[in-house]
Amino acid sequence: MTCLNKFKKIKDSLPLGVSLLAVSKGHTHESVRNLASYGQLDFGESRLQEALPKKNDLNDLDQLRWHFVGKLQKNKVRGVIKDFDFIHSVDSVSLLERISRISNEENKVPKIFLQIKLREDPSKGGFLKEDLLNSWAKIIALENIDLIGLMTIPPIDLSSKQRKDLFFECKNMVNHLGLKDCSMGMSNDWEEAIECGATWIRLGSLLFGKR
Ligand SMILES: *Cc1c(COP(=O)(O)O)cnc(C)c1O
Repeated sequence: MTCLNKFKKIKDSLPLGVSLLAVSKGHTHESVRNLASYGQLDFGESRLQEALPKKNDLNDLDQLRWHFVGKLQKNKVRGVIKDFDFIHSVDSVSLLERISRISNEENKVPKIFLQIKLREDPSKGGFLKEDLLNSWAKIIALENIDLIGLMTIPPIDLSSKQRKDLFFECKNMVNHLGLKDCSMGMSNDWEEAIECGATWIRLGSLLFGKR
């Protein structure tokens, strides 16, 4: 199946309230432009250095919305705030404080997902559930951020049942905290994530092919 057919099929299958983020890291600006011509507006990148020239090549498409999904280094915060509308990967209070301060300086209000780590996973960042709850009062007092939800990535070795348990747990936390959005589900598990209440799925290889 061509990428376009795949895109249309996935897009048509999404329940109301589920948005598709096309993760274009490792793919060219032509690929982004191609998908944009079929109506895709939300694109995700995980490295600022890669995203900036790509965004520049797509400057004429001013309706695109850019989502930062990668590990965010402190020294990249200002660049990300200037060039992205959403950040899915905020994994500490200190990082969030820095985002709040710099957003204020830049006169921006980025939409923020806090990344939550619901299972032991040395390869992933994210708030532990307990730390998130303990820091909650501090977090919601911060200005110039629009805290919209939680993002999670399951460890790779889970069974389907274990993954769904994890996704449900993320959804329950979103509800418990009074947030709106749940960014979960990638190329290999997006259907499970939707069953469990994802509002944003993040697809890379399924839409663009292997990197
Ligand atoms: C790369 C990436 C994706 C997309 O992954 P695929 O498996 O290619 O769909 C989604 N989320 C994050 C955070 C990523 O880094």
